[in-house]
Amino acid sequence: MHAPLRLRLDGDALVQNWRTLDRMSGTAACGAAVKANGYGLGAIEVASRLAHAGCRDFFVSNWQEAAELAPLGLTVSVLHGVRAEDMPAAAASFARPVLNTPTQVARWKAAGGGVCDVMVDTGMNRLGVSADDVASGLLDGLQIETLMSHLACADEDSLMNAEQRDRFAALVGRTMAKRMSLANSGGVALGERYAFDLTRPGLALYGGIPRPELGDLIRQVVRPEAQILQRRRVSRGGSVGYNAQWYAAVDTEVGIVNLGYADGYWRGFSNIGTASSVAGNDLPVLGRVSMDLVAIALAGDEIEGDWVSFDYRLPAAAAASGMSQYELLTGLGGRFVRMWN
Ligand SMILES: *Cc1c(COP(=O)(O)O)cnc(C)c1O
Repeated sequence: MHAPLRLRLDGDALVQNWRTLDRMSGTAACGAAVKANGYGLGAIEVASRLAHAGCRDFFVSNWQEAAELAPLGLTVSVLHGVRAEDMPAAAASFARPVLNTPTQVARWKAAGGGVCDVMVDTGMNRLGVSADDVASGLLDGLQIETLMSHLACADEDSLMNAEQRDRFAALVGRTMAKRMSLANSGGVALGERYAFDLTRPGLALYGGIPRPELGDLIRQVVRPEAQILQRRRVSRGGSVGYNAQWYAAVDTEVGIVNLGYADGYWRGFSNIGTASSVAGNDLPVLGRVSMDLVAIALAGDEIEGDWVSFDYRLPAAAAASGMSQYELLTGLGGRFVRMWN
């Protein structure tokens, strides 16, 4: 199969980013969030590269994602814990749950569950048991590997960061947990006071930059490339694409490229995204992104079949498209051939 679109994935940059985050985590271990298929890159490829580099703790959302990683022989935590219908899979799994609610805790205890992690809510009001639950003995008798919490505003300078950090620090020594873990990518950049024993970055591994402190340290990992299907001349006054959202002010050479919003190249890139040719020419997106196609202005002698590379530096692409850096990664579709260097 010769797919007309491919994701260039820089394995060296991925590993470098993990090493950078590991260093910034100080004495804490640095894990990796590989949920949502490794943020769209491919969970197996990501996890095996990071494991080879020394990463020992991996996080997925559910048991199906854990099962996909089973052949790798890694330590995997399942962030959404155990529903009743997860128990058979969880009991037989190599992975362990992150228990999030008193009901999940009771379910795991009743099943004689064994080693687990526990999420405590420190103010995000998403998943987790409360500090009061912890104080009242809810977790007594559990074999807890990691007690964790999650920052709501790590990508901002919010007072909430220090508040959550202090509430979490107050739990040190209050449970039998072997380790404490709070920081996602943004949390790592907030400094070692946020690192505790284990950090859990996701976004920044994949080239995302949630805080300016990471701007010069994190390398781009993902670059979409696609082939030109047709080259055409659009005469002055002609329009391009659905709803005629771009008009030619002068005669313009246009390339129609095999990439669209069904691949995660969102409509927010309409009239604002850019690509570059092999020769290094800038090729701006013209008009609306379609489901499977996008038009670009050609600059040189690009022809049918030529590959072009889309500008996908995540902070800039997010600002341009109005999507979050997370959505730009996790939306990358199944039609790309994923090519690692
Ligand atoms: C997704 C997730 C992470 C990773 O967050 P990033 O912002 O991508 O670094 C860490 N911890 C939990 C609980 C998560 O859900």
